Amino acid sequence: AMLRAAIQSVRSSGGQVVPEPEAKAVLRDFGIAVPYGHAGNDVLATAAGLDEPLVLKAVSPTLVHKSDAGGVRVGLRAAELPATAQQMSEELAEHGHRIERFLVEEMAAAGQEVAVGAVRTPGLGWTVMVGLGGVFIEVLADVAFGVAPLTSQQVRAMLRELQGMPLLEGARGAEPLDVDALVALVVRLAGADGLLAAMPDEVTEIDLNPVIVSTSGAVAVDARFVVG
Ligand code: ADP
Ligand code: MG
Repeated sequence: AMLRAAIQSVRSSGGQVVPEPEAKAVLRDFGIAVPYGHAGNDVLATAAGLDEPLVLKAVSPTLVHKSDAGGVRVGLRAAELPATAQQMSEELAEHGHRIERFLVEEMAAAGQEVAVGAVRTPGLGWTVMVGLGGVFIEVLADVAFGVAPLTSQQVRAMLRELQGMPLLEGARGAEPLDVDALVALVVRLAGADGLLAAMPDEVTEIDLNPVIVSTSGAVAVDARFVVG
């Protein structure tokens, strides 16, 4: 119901992307971990009850790659929010973006960034992609594909295809990261009773980029549902 309401409001406003706070509420509802946070216009009020350090993000229908335009600031104290929000509004206005609301959320535990995506593919259903964030995707195109529904065994097999997998498993004496949590997250998305299976037809693409995999847990810190 939450999902349908979010999609309905996107369509009625002529937009193409479910706003990040609503997309994250849907993820949480499906058992996919997202940072604790709230959206609103009064950033200080929005931060009430959240643990520092905080992340401030602009919510705007025209803003797709938020950080490219200065729409994401991480590692903030609550006291810094009002001035940072003011500065963000001015910076984005110069680029022609109008901020609708702000999303204030807690920082996810540090870890390896992983991109998880799904695209509706005619004749196939949902094609699911996983890849390690940063240079791994952009430079090395180190990604693996599967077709939903995916079992946890199939997700593990996809992860083993990644050249960057040693980074998740604790290469060079680093602590091993919580690969089980990442697998569980992908199964909540792409498993037989996962989010993709419940997605209305008009949703054509889902990007969780990044999911941050730490030593305990995997959290989707960005979420984009594209309405076709
Ligand atoms: P966009 O992809 O639209 O530029 P993101 O929401 O992905 O914006 O944020 C940009 C980057 O900021 C992320 O890749 C991640 O490194 C960091 N980030 C965003 N939100 C959080 C969070 N809650 N905790 C930790 N890091 C975050
Ligand atoms: Mg992102």
